Amino acid sequence: MADKKEYEIQYLKGVGPKRAEVFAQAGITNYSDLILYFPTSYIDRNSVKSIQELSKIIKNENQFDFRNTKIQDIKFQTEYSLIGKIVKISEKEFGHHRKLLLLFISDGSGVNARIVFFNRIEYFKKSYQIDDWVMVNGYPESDQYFDVSFTHPEIEKIDIEESGLYRKGGILPKYRLPEIFVKSQITHKTLRKLIKEVIETKKVELQETLPDYLLQDLKLPKIENCIEALHFPTNKNELEKARFRVKFEESFLFQLTLLTKRKHQIKYEKGLIIEKNTTLVKSFYKHLPFELTQSQIQVLKDIFNDFKSQRPMNRLLQGDVGSGKTIVAIISMLAVIDAGYQVVFMAPTELLAEQHYNTLKKFLEPYSIKIELLVGGQKKKYRNEINEEISSGRAQIICGTHALFQSNIKFNKLAYVIIDEQHRFGVSQRAELIELAKQSYNELDVVPHILVMSATPIPRTLTMTIYGDLNVSVIKELPKNRKPIKTKVVFNQNRLKVYEFIKAEIAQGRQCYIVYPLVEKSEKIDYKAVIEHYEELKDSIFKDYRVGMLHGQLFSYEKDDAMQAFLNKELDILFATTVIEVGIDVPNATIMVIEDSERFGLSQLHQLRGRIGRGESQSYCFLFTKDYFQFQLKKTKIDPKERKAAIIRLKAMEETSDGFKISEIDLELRGPGDIMGTKQSGLPDFRYLDLVNDGEIISLSRTIASNIIATDPNLVSLENNILLITLKKYINKDKSFLGIA
Ligand code: ADP
Ligand code: MG
Repeated sequence: MADKKEYEIQYLKGVGPKRAEVFAQAGITNYSDLILYFPTSYIDRNSVKSIQELSKIIKNENQFDFRNTKIQDIKFQTEYSLIGKIVKISEKEFGHHRKLLLLFISDGSGVNARIVFFNRIEYFKKSYQIDDWVMVNGYPESDQYFDVSFTHPEIEKIDIEESGLYRKGGILPKYRLPEIFVKSQITHKTLRKLIKEVIETKKVELQETLPDYLLQDLKLPKIENCIEALHFPTNKNELEKARFRVKFEESFLFQLTLLTKRKHQIKYEKGLIIEKNTTLVKSFYKHLPFELTQSQIQVLKDIFNDFKSQRPMNRLLQGDVGSGKTIVAIISMLAVIDAGYQVVFMAPTELLAEQHYNTLKKFLEPYSIKIELLVGGQKKKYRNEINEEISSGRAQIICGTHALFQSNIKFNKLAYVIIDEQHRFGVSQRAELIELAKQSYNELDVVPHILVMSATPIPRTLTMTIYGDLNVSVIKELPKNRKPIKTKVVFNQNRLKVYEFIKAEIAQGRQCYIVYPLVEKSEKIDYKAVIEHYEELKDSIFKDYRVGMLHGQLFSYEKDDAMQAFLNKELDILFATTVIEVGIDVPNATIMVIEDSERFGLSQLHQLRGRIGRGESQSYCFLFTKDYFQFQLKKTKIDPKERKAAIIRLKAMEETSDGFKISEIDLELRGPGDIMGTKQSGLPDFRYLDLVNDGEIISLSRTIASNIIATDPNLVSLENNILLITLKKYINKDKSFLGIA
């Protein structure tokens, strides 16, 4: 027999061993766990609407016209609360022996609301009687029978003892109630009661976690006031302050951790000093076929400042697709080469590594600089030769993929590592490369300069958290010669018109990409596949045109051939998969068709679209999608569950070509985890902080953290002592960091 565990919480009145077991499953075993079980939202009694008011609001929401609404203005259905008395309960049969339960609620405003339950009818029938007062919270709808109708809302009986709260315009906390809670009848009310008991009888000794001066400067409530206010706010202002404190604290400790790590680097690691106006750099500038944008110039300044700082550079270069990051990278490389060091240029795919290699060769042709390409699949003998070039130091620039550090390769005075499209690499891969670089000098504490380039325009809130340990430079503008791409969502039934348009553009000498979600037809997924569609179209619609194909299942040389042919204008149309997503640069390609475009995320669509609009001519992007979505467009109301609805994303693509805007919308629609891939991004699981909306808090906490580290790097001053203790707990993932002794 398994031992029954003893949990502290079972000694609370109304808990007992059985419920304690349930609480334990939700991670609550003792009193501190309980009071740290913060509400997830609140119902403000003042914002509780009368049913009459609600019916008007719902009518208005129904008039919302999606077609003429900008994506930024889309309002998702809002949650509403009402308070009223049950005036009628009835059961109805529908379908095949199925029943539903209806509660009718009146609040005296003249209109009644209806509540519908499909599931667990017996339970609800037992729980509610006529004349019970209830609080209802959910997404109301209207139909032909009823103006205000809730389906399976949150519903809670209101007690006489608590009714004061509702009447006085109080604020009521709502907790996360996992299924096991619901089954054991642990309700919001149960939680409120237990937590009140623990706080009032001071069962937990709270210790302050933030220094006095911070509490004062930021007007933060003390820890005990904060926790009490979170559970039992007496007014809005108090609640806001308490919420601000937990969010701030969470963000602040995270920033402190990042900065403490970096402080370590700053103290012990030496960076090589690289001069800026070297012969190569000057000559290259002189022969550039275009003028650098202001942003490009600023970024170069940032980089060269880092180069002379005696510290290793750790910089993130953010710039939308086509903003000209590569040139910036090349110019900074030249300075490093002139100083006699090696440079690594790393790309996420072989295709891109090869393209970088070719770009470098093209731009650096006039100079005798030795550039090597290191990718998988190279013959052993050839690879050995390259390795020899690298370890001898003859190779000055090495382009490659992660194969770079899979082969046991020895660099020779590697001073500069450039990583393109960082979001595809894990943080650990960056570290491995640094290690290899360190081994390439005689001095142990020298660390290479690192430039991470990202074309994923990550919203600022995310950059500050994920890349908190990197300095950030942003290329804000595109080169002057660019025209914004015209983007159009096209329903499948209209595709022929687009084909005609493509033919007309090709006649003008332009080229076109057609992008597919799949390589081969799959039985499971109903998306178009490049191979099938290529075979079909090349003998029909496009039989008079020169077409080629590019996808991941081709041999490396086949890919090269296709790409090269397209680049040389020997092909009019390139049928491809997302292998073309990153980096590929064919300025004469001005049309892109994306098949089954709803299948892609916003950021990915943006990356793909970035392959066109790279030259002087007007570019066009057509997002093909299912006819069915027309009806989604006509739907007038957007259920929050449909936030990710394909058509909304596609609509956003039509409206803006600003990558930062797109990724903000993406962040809002899909959340940070989806965008970055939480696992590899190293993004912590914030409990209180909202990465979409708390930008100001993040930025404030970052500034404060960096000021503190600048003046008291080891937190040894008396006033920071408290912080040192808190930070240690935080780093050790001791959940008591929020103030529990
Ligand atoms: P990305 O930031 O996507 O890596 P690239 O560096 O590939 O962008 O630049 C896209 C194209 O724009 C390249 O053909 C590049 O030569 C060109 N380019 C870069 N900077 C400028 C500029 N200042 N003016 C005009 N063209 C530029
Ligand atoms: Mg690029």
